[in-house]
Amino acid sequence: MKRRRALQLRERYPFAAPVMTFYVALLDSPGDVVAAVDEAGPAYLREAVRRPDPPEPVARFLERATWPGGEHECVPLLSFRAAPDEPLVAGRRRLMCAWCKRTWAFSASACPVCGEKTTSYADRDVFAHMTIEACRPCSRYLIEVDLGRDRQAVPEVDELAALPLDLYAAEQGLTKITPNLMGV
Ligand SMILES: [Zn+2]
Ligand SMILES: [Zn+2]
Repeated sequence: MKRRRALQLRERYPFAAPVMTFYVALLDSPGDVVAAVDEAGPAYLREAVRRPDPPEPVARFLERATWPGGEHECVPLLSFRAAPDEPLVAGRRRLMCAWCKRTWAFSASACPVCGEKTTSYADRDVFAHMTIEACRPCSRYLIEVDLGRDRQAVPEVDELAALPLDLYAAEQGLTKITPNLMGV
């Protein structure tokens, strides 16, 4: 499902093609991040993943890509809303953990960091189903994926394609609550 969605997004969003190609390579080489990086990773990573002491962002990428699971405190990577054909949860907002992908219900329009009310930003011409949920008081944001607007969306894959929204958020002085696998 993740692989199929990544290929679909690669076609739909040319700006996300390199990220999706790399993501597919990671899915196809479980347990061998270096092989996936060699095949489809950005040039700087190819050299950096081989260093005994890789720079901080690369170390973080390796940690995420090779995480074996285990005890941790869940941190929100993104939020999503369930599709309308799931009557008990339709429209309800859930957060997803960046590490274990566990999801939990969370109140709509509240910041997961400080609890203040958030503001949504959308560019519906580009993304019919994704928004920035931004908190002005703490200057944090995350991407929200609305499965009601795109039933085929796979939240953790779609979130990687939201690059123009991430760029816009950065221009607004916002920082993502938890960076995604690609460090964005
Ligand atoms: Zn977790
Ligand atoms: Zn906040």
